[in-house]
Amino acid sequence: MAQLRIPGPTPCPEEVLKAMSRQMINHRGDEFGEMMRSVTAKLKTVFQTQNDLYLLTGSGTGGMEAAIVNVLSPGDKVLAISVGVFGDRFANIARTYGADVTVVKSEDGKPADVDAVRKALQSDPKIKAVIVTHNESSTGVVNPLGDIAKLAKDAGKLIMVDAVSSMGGIDCPVDKWGLDVVATGSQKCWMLPPGMAFVSVSKDAWKAHATAKMPRFYWDFTRAKKFYEEKGQTPWTPNVSLVYAMQPALDMILKEGLPNVFARHTRIAKMTREGLKAMGQTLFVADEKYASNTVTAVTATKGLDQKKLNKILRDEFQVVISGGQQNLEGKIYRIGHLGWVTEKDIKEVLDALKIALPKAGFGSAK
Ligand SMILES: *Cc1c(COP(=O)(O)O)cnc(C)c1O
Repeated sequence: MAQLRIPGPTPCPEEVLKAMSRQMINHRGDEFGEMMRSVTAKLKTVFQTQNDLYLLTGSGTGGMEAAIVNVLSPGDKVLAISVGVFGDRFANIARTYGADVTVVKSEDGKPADVDAVRKALQSDPKIKAVIVTHNESSTGVVNPLGDIAKLAKDAGKLIMVDAVSSMGGIDCPVDKWGLDVVATGSQKCWMLPPGMAFVSVSKDAWKAHATAKMPRFYWDFTRAKKFYEEKGQTPWTPNVSLVYAMQPALDMILKEGLPNVFARHTRIAKMTREGLKAMGQTLFVADEKYASNTVTAVTATKGLDQKKLNKILRDEFQVVISGGQQNLEGKIYRIGHLGWVTEKDIKEVLDALKIALPKAGFGSAK
C-alpha cells in the first residue's frame, strides 16, 4: 500500500475506516444526537476549550469562510496575517464578502513578523479583527500564534484562526490564548477522511455575530447553535459516516493523551528534519524554531528536479509527497507528518529519499 505523506488527506487507521462503513441511521434520531454530543465534547477537549463548537459538513476552507461570515460585516476592517497560500486564502475570503482587508505579509518560509503586527494594530484603531494561519502548510511554517493572539486580545480585537493543519497535532490552546473562532479540517491531524470542518466560537465572537451582516445561510452559527442545543443535530444533513469515524479517531487521540500526541508530532518532525539535513537537503524554513511539526518543506537544490523526485518516490517506492503550490511550484517539496504517523513511516520515507534524490538529479549541479 502507498505511503501517503502529504499535508492532508492522511492515512486513516483501520478502526476508523471500518467505522465509516456502517449502515446509515436517522440524522434526526436520538442515537445520532447522542453521538454528536459525544464527539463534540471530545473535540472540545482537543481544542482545549469550553467555547461552543460545531461540526460543519464541508472542508477546512468552509470552516474558514464560516469564521469570516459569522462575525463580520461588509466594510469591517480586518488585519490579515499571511505567510503563504493559506494566509492569502483567508484574506481573500474576507475580501470576497466585503471586508476592508489590510495584509501583513511575510516572505515565504518566514513566520509572521510580530512587531509588524503590533505596528499595524497601533496604526489603525478601527481594525475589528485579526485573521491568521496557525500552521502554514504551503511553506511548513508554524506562526507564533500565542504572541499574535495576545496582541490582538490586548488591543480588544477579535481573532479568527485557520488551525486547519495544526489542531490535534500542534498545541493550540483556544481558551488560554483567547482565540475567538478557530477552524480545522477532518483530513489533517485527526486521522479522519476529508468531509468536515470543526469550528469553535467564543463569547466575544457570539457578541459580534449578533450584529454581523455578511450574507450567510449554510454556515450560519445561529442555526448551528439552535439545532445542536435543542437536539444534538446539525441544521443540514451532516456527513454521517464521518461522525461514525470520529468516535474511534477521537478515542485514539484522547487515549494517547494530548501532550503525548503533540510530543509525537514534535519528535517525528525533528526526525524528518534531521534525516533530510543528513542527506544534504536544505530546509525551506531556515529558522527551525518556526518549522512546522506537521509538514516539512524542503528547497530543491543542487540540480534536483522536484517533480521528477515526487514521481520516482511514487512509482518506485509507493511514497506520495507534495510539491510546492503556486509561486513555489517546482521549487520545494513537502512531506506531511501529521495525524496517524509513526517514526517507522518517516524512516521509510527517508530511506526512499536517499535512493530517489540522486536519481532525480540531486548533486548534479552546485
Ligand atoms: C488544508 C488546509 C486548508 C484548506 O483545507 P481544505 O480542507 O482543503 O479546504 C486551509 N488551511 C490550511 C493551513 C491547510 O493546511
